[in-house]
Amino acid sequence: MAYYTSASRPNRLNPLSKHYDLIAIGAGSGGLSVAERAALHGKRCAVVESGPLGGTCVNVGCVPKKVMWFGAGLAHALEDAAGYGFTLHGHDFDWARLKAARDRYVGGINDWYGNYLADSGIDLLRGTARLVDARHVEVDGEVYGADHIALAPGGEPIVPAVDGAEHGITSDGFFALETQPRRVAIVGSGYIAVELAGLLKALGSEVSLLLRKGHVLREFDAMLRETLMESMGESGISIVSSTQVEAVQRHADGTLGVRTDKGQTLGPFDTLIWAIGRRPRTAGLGLEDAGVEIDGQGFIPTDDFQNTNVERVYALGDVTGRAALTPVAIAAGRRLADRLFDAQPERHLDYRLIPTVIFSHPPIGTVGLTEDEARERHGDAVKVFQTRFTAMYHALSPHPLPTAMKLVCLGAEQKIVGCHVIGPGADEMLQGFAVAIRMGATKRDFDDTVAIHPTSAEELVTMR
Ligand code: FAD
Ligand code: NDP
Repeated sequence: MAYYTSASRPNRLNPLSKHYDLIAIGAGSGGLSVAERAALHGKRCAVVESGPLGGTCVNVGCVPKKVMWFGAGLAHALEDAAGYGFTLHGHDFDWARLKAARDRYVGGINDWYGNYLADSGIDLLRGTARLVDARHVEVDGEVYGADHIALAPGGEPIVPAVDGAEHGITSDGFFALETQPRRVAIVGSGYIAVELAGLLKALGSEVSLLLRKGHVLREFDAMLRETLMESMGESGISIVSSTQVEAVQRHADGTLGVRTDKGQTLGPFDTLIWAIGRRPRTAGLGLEDAGVEIDGQGFIPTDDFQNTNVERVYALGDVTGRAALTPVAIAAGRRLADRLFDAQPERHLDYRLIPTVIFSHPPIGTVGLTEDEARERHGDAVKVFQTRFTAMYHALSPHPLPTAMKLVCLGAEQKIVGCHVIGPGADEMLQGFAVAIRMGATKRDFDDTVAIHPTSAEELVTMR
């Protein structure tokens, strides 16, 4: 097998080591995508991975989370069934069975990626990568050369430095739980906190959500935050706001107690989940040896083209600290490979107008500026349309979830610069609207689009 490419030059550290056009560090969403697209352009590529293939999204992120979210949705549907005339004669929920099925599904994706890499001619280098310099990567003692290196090592959950923090778990630990925790404390207010709170509650756990401030989802539109908090409260999640955790204690019976800055002791809990953000996995990567700069939080800054400060070393995905979402990492990887290897010198990811969904209960779909951001930037040129209603499905169910929608429009032509939806179906609704908004749609374009009836989505094209 010829490992040297046309651009090959001897590897000065070990002349027998392999040389690639591109080495990607991390076989997650970003690393796999850049290597896959580069291979499609005929380049010799390797991906280095120390863990299971697919990275965070496949193993401890989007995929197992969505499986649990579907399970939680079924739990809601069982409750709703009575409103539609069903009499159910009892049902049990078996956490271990769902976890086993979920693990099998994830295992299948791991296998699929393994086969896919082999079929695409991409070498999988198993082990932990470290940059030797800007052209060489060491993987467990073996050194490989590359013309281009893409850094996509992702991130990991943050555990705070409080007494007894080790008694808690993170989202990684959540996905390893073999039995359902009966009483759960979740600390945090972002995507993971609200998603896990919603699904655990739906599946039957008692959930306390501990917020250090007064709100969830700080960066999102106020309508989304307020509607979600109201729904969470109504579902029976205990929201403890403006509370900092000072210590976690394990009692003799194995349960956990939480001491707060207000002098309270909360609990007992069976499980405590830290969901307070993620940090980049840059420690030990050898960035200093290659001269790659990081910022104060360890993220690798890049320009619009995923370039780091070092020529031919790129970074993408969560490690860049920008929009930590799977499709963002994938899109950045594909565009980078197109730019480097397919003569598309201007190809890069536009980080504006990235749609995102929070798989809360009810789900949230959002794209563009919040109302507050728009007013801050554009003042009186902003006009907002909003609505709130109960979706038809919930008219007959015992738990009438709210749906709320907001369009943020700009200027005389009322160009839509923000679209925010919370309610059943928001997760599937947003993708198409995001296309229209990216294309520059105005409120008039929405108004001129014939509604689809009866749906919740039709409200977005009929708002007054
Ligand atoms: P990762 O997917 O984290 O991949 C990095 C890989 O690099 C890992 O496999 C790691 O083992 C490997 N690695 C690290 N360092 C080294 C090294 N030195 N040597 C070798 N290998 C190394 N996003 C969505 O869009 N939708 C969702 O619904 C969603 N849900 C999520 C739920 C949870 C609980 C979490 C935690 C995240 C979720 N995300 C979601 C975010 C999404 O998972 C990430 O944005 C995405 O995985 C980032 O891809 P990446 O390639 O940057 O990093
Ligand atoms: P987030 O950044 O979304 O939220 C963490 C929040 O926790 C902070 O914003 C902060 O909010 C709060 N916080 C920080 N420190 C503390 C502390 N010491 N005590 C209490 N609260 C604290 O992080 P997540 O871990 O939830 O998720 C990481 C990222 O993964 C997300 O940002 C998202 O990009 C991605 N993700 C995407 C999903 C999706 O697409 N559906 C699902 C899950 C994750 P405040 O300052 O307001 O208190």
